[in-house]
Amino acid sequence: MPSLVFEGRRYVQRTHAVECLQCRTRAQSFANRHFVTCRCGAVAVDGGIGPANRVIGRLDCVRDISVWKTEGPRPLTLPQAYLDAHIDALKRRGQN
Ligand SMILES: [Zn+2]
Repeated sequence: MPSLVFEGRRYVQRTHAVECLQCRTRAQSFANRHFVTCRCGAVAVDGGIGPANRVIGRLDCVRDISVWKTEGPRPLTLPQAYLDAHIDALKRRGQN
């Protein structure tokens, strides 16, 4: 299961999903080889919350709405701004 550290806390990915900014639909992948596209086909997700999961398609149309939480009795949710900044960094590098 993917994890990352933000402000000293480890967050574990709980859902793998995107919203398409073009057609405003969501796509969520629940498992490895579960490839799901938005309605217009501009963006897609695959891999569920597995280690090789991925976001596919047009970065200018994608908003990562995956949920990441800390573990423990009172889990914190990773701020959406972190995910938005990650996609923005990918756009600047021209990668996908
Ligand atoms: Zn779409």
